Amino acid sequence: MRLHWHRRDLRGADNRALRAAVDAGGGVVPVFVFDRDVLAHAGPPRVAFMLDALDSLREWYRERGSDLLVAEGDPRDVIPELAAQYDADGVTWAADYSGLARERDAAVRQALDDADVARESVHDAVFHEPGTIRTNDGDPYSVFTYFGRKWHDRPKPDPADPPTADELAAVTDDTPLPTLDGLGFDAPEADVPEASPDAARELLADFCASPIYEYGDRRDYPADGCTSRLSPHLKWGTIGIRTVHAATENAKADAPDEDAAESVEEFQDQLAWREFYTQVLFFNPEVVTANYKSYDNPVEWNDDPAALQAWKDGETGYPIVDAGMRQLRAEAYMHNRVRMIVASFLTKDLLVDWRHGYDWFREKLVDHDTANDNGGWQWAASTGTDAQPYFRVFNPMTQGERYDPDAEYITSYVPELRGVDPEVIHGWHECSPTQRDRTAPEYPAPIVDHGERREQAIAMFERARGDD
Ligand SMILES: Cc1cc2nc3c(=O)[nH]c(=O)nc-3n(C[C@H](O)[C@H](O)[C@H](O)COP(=O)(O)OP(=O)(O)OC[C@H]3O[C@@H](n4cnc5c(N)ncnc54)[C@H](O)[C@@H]3O)c2cc1C
Repeated sequence: MRLHWHRRDLRGADNRALRAAVDAGGGVVPVFVFDRDVLAHAGPPRVAFMLDALDSLREWYRERGSDLLVAEGDPRDVIPELAAQYDADGVTWAADYSGLARERDAAVRQALDDADVARESVHDAVFHEPGTIRTNDGDPYSVFTYFGRKWHDRPKPDPADPPTADELAAVTDDTPLPTLDGLGFDAPEADVPEASPDAARELLADFCASPIYEYGDRRDYPADGCTSRLSPHLKWGTIGIRTVHAATENAKADAPDEDAAESVEEFQDQLAWREFYTQVLFFNPEVVTANYKSYDNPVEWNDDPAALQAWKDGETGYPIVDAGMRQLRAEAYMHNRVRMIVASFLTKDLLVDWRHGYDWFREKLVDHDTANDNGGWQWAASTGTDAQPYFRVFNPMTQGERYDPDAEYITSYVPELRGVDPEVIHGWHECSPTQRDRTAPEYPAPIVDHGERREQAIAMFERARGDD
């Protein structure tokens, strides 16, 4: 008998760790542990999504004559206790590469060794385990391009077979799943998407049916909605990466022309970015709170709580920034291009430390993933690996004009600007107070001057570099 400890692999299908538990023979007892230390780092949307996913997973096991056992406590106590209770001779789990998870897993490994129970951490969440794609000198990559090429060239395994009913232990657990409130979280202010593996597969099928062929051209246009929206599912493992990749390979084979096939590859590139940031975090766990890139002097960020609050509330007077920040609150999600714009705005226009933005995203995003979130923030703040150079500062007006020319995305989240001419929206910073008052009296004037702040941002980084 084996215990399979689910963590960020909340599915039965295409789960290599669960498959390894099954292949060990003797039946599998699935278990999930609510760990308050881990939950302390989560926000309501993410926990709501997780609870919904657990509900589906439990149902999935029950349909197969088994059950998902739920327990609460410190896994280093709970897992060995459950192993003893079910007379399990081994425990499997899917490897998690973040620093906190690795510390937890090391403690559980030690506790199982002490109890003389075998354990196996199985590589599942990404194709290529951190450390398996390296430079020719054997170092981990700090630049994406070559990592990405090697990632594409390596063979990709097929989805793992789900266990059959016979391969699962006939256990039952009447303990209800805890509620959000019971775990100490408020209800999320956002509408959280459905978390079941069926919902994930549906998103994938819809995406591969057609938007994937436009992805290369249209992925930067937030009003188009032509990205997959798979991020919370990849975060919580309600879909396996092999399933996603296999579907995209089928889409590539069916692509109507060369451009469409290249568009599929561009999507696959994003899956490679996910693995790139996973290995950056694996080799540099300190980046969760520290700059990846070291400057000679500290970066002198602004301590500006009022500006930070205006940014969080979507009240900066920069329409594309405000639309993004309001999308975050409404949907616990934000389009990738807009994430880049709002992150640049916080760090290079408001000159506020990226860590404040990262913390807000961690609390509000349903797809918050330490590696990707940190990678995205440090990229925008010019403190990361393969980051935006410090002197490149996004212009929020031209970004809005280029990627949301009709202000369709902006007006869907900023009702004060509905009915306003897109040209006026994109030129909001140039409008006179009277003109603003006449066109959209409820919408704020820009809280900073972009041109001035751009100069200040460059000067701030030059001081950090010791250039003056
Ligand atoms: C400041 C900032 C913060 C971010 N925080 C997160 C986060 O917490 N969690 C997260 O999953 N992504 C994060 N991203 C990356 C990206 O914005 C999201 O993955 C993407 O918007 C999710 O939407 P989608 O599933 O429709 O993406 P798609 O475009 O359909 O991409 C498919 C998948 O590829 C991965 N992916 C896409 N873009 C990136 C990227 N730039 N880096 C790493 N992986 C990527 C994701 O798993 C995504 O679901 C962040 C980006 C920035 C700039």
